[in-house]
Amino acid sequence: MILPSPLRVRFAPSPTGYLHVGGARTALFNWLLARKHGGQFLLRIEDTDKARSTDDSTRAIFEGMTWLGLDWDEDVVYQGANLLRHQADAYRLLETGHAYRDFTSPAQLEAWRAEAEAAKLPFKVDRAKVILPRDVEAAKLAAGEPFAIRFKVPDGTTEWMDLVHGRIAFPNKDIEDFVILRSDGTPLYNHAVVSDDIAMGVTLVMRGDDHISNTPKQILIYEALGARLPVFGHLPMIHGTDGKKLSKRHGATAVADWQHQGILPSAMVNFLALLGWSPGGDLEVMLRDELIGRFDPDGLLKKAAVFDPKKLEWMNGQHLSRLPIAEVEPPVTRGIVAAGFASEAELAARRDWYHRLLDLLRVRARTVDDIVRQAEPYLRAEIAVPDDLWAGLAKDAEATRSALTAARGALVALPDAQWHDGAAMEAALRAAAEGIGLAAGKLFTPLRTVLTGSKVSPGITDVVAMLGRDRSLARVDAALARLPGAP
Ligand code: GLU
Repeated sequence: MILPSPLRVRFAPSPTGYLHVGGARTALFNWLLARKHGGQFLLRIEDTDKARSTDDSTRAIFEGMTWLGLDWDEDVVYQGANLLRHQADAYRLLETGHAYRDFTSPAQLEAWRAEAEAAKLPFKVDRAKVILPRDVEAAKLAAGEPFAIRFKVPDGTTEWMDLVHGRIAFPNKDIEDFVILRSDGTPLYNHAVVSDDIAMGVTLVMRGDDHISNTPKQILIYEALGARLPVFGHLPMIHGTDGKKLSKRHGATAVADWQHQGILPSAMVNFLALLGWSPGGDLEVMLRDELIGRFDPDGLLKKAAVFDPKKLEWMNGQHLSRLPIAEVEPPVTRGIVAAGFASEAELAARRDWYHRLLDLLRVRARTVDDIVRQAEPYLRAEIAVPDDLWAGLAKDAEATRSALTAARGALVALPDAQWHDGAAMEAALRAAAEGIGLAAGKLFTPLRTVLTGSKVSPGITDVVAMLGRDRSLARVDAALARLPGAP
């Protein structure tokens, strides 16, 4: 499919809640297309539903997009500010005969609906009953009676080549004459969207599948206004792992929730990009620039996408390992400071050491929180060995004592020059174990436990090197003093 030129796409959220993953996915796909092809990515806040739109949710949309790095071009458009144009366009359709005045009262409409229901017929407004003889209409107008403006759906078929689904066609006889302007002068969604998309010069409309049934109505309005049609593309729905439409039942669906759970923006972007698109082959992990380079409408998928939080965590782990350290550092630092493990100034004062620590921990972590948790023993002056692990060490106090004593001796004897030489340190510790007739693992495990308060950690020599000699020896000494039967 040849993309329109100029390429102007938009994201048009209704500010009635937080930015959820479905909206973020729509925003991302539009953004990727624009960034790849040098087009414009526009943002329009569809705030015409005054009762449901809030400033808080507009702010949440800005914040979510900013966090994801989805920057938009040109000023934000607020749909509510375009009311006069929406009205003018509706009146233009009235004047050109593409729409008509509807003076029907709500009670009358209800009565027609009930009639159809009683006859078990699908209800459709009967144009012949609504369009009044000229003189009757003129009298009502003169009397100031309120009226809506209804679009006069022509005969025929409305069809388009969808970027995702290929040809889609709707027989016009299935489309009811629909209201474009209410009697209070406010526009309906389909009308406001078309009026705005024309005014903004949008040439490609990419949005969720749930808008497919709106598209024929919108195309009819474009045609009646004599405007050029954009290309339409409808992205598949997002389901939970149980195959049902994604909802709160599936857990966090707001982008901000994932942000607060230690997911990196680049991982979130990568994960969202695969909800309804595939670069082909097995390729999954892509940093931002690679995504832009590879994004191609040919890879858009028709079938529903599955939102699997486990995959998001896995993806996050991949990004934690691959990103430049400068992108991993800020969220980890925020987590460390919030947990009270160290201050920002303390981390800044030994940045090289801190970066080495991050490099060591990030390859074993899936989330920022994992790194923060694992960083604790290296940042605090003292640690507490959890009760269950301590009980394991204390059960055979003599064996633990001899292992720790041997390890201590090896570390004390290790020359400064070898402190950061992992192979030399490991050889020294292995020799110490051998010297007391222990398998090396039987020495490493208690040492690891008293140094980190955990049975899992990076390699023991990395742990010791990161902690440094003083802190390592102090932790071994504290454990020796605490063992039952200590002198
Ligand atoms: N405001 C609509 C929504 O949030 C989107 C309209 C559109 O993309 O055409 O679903």
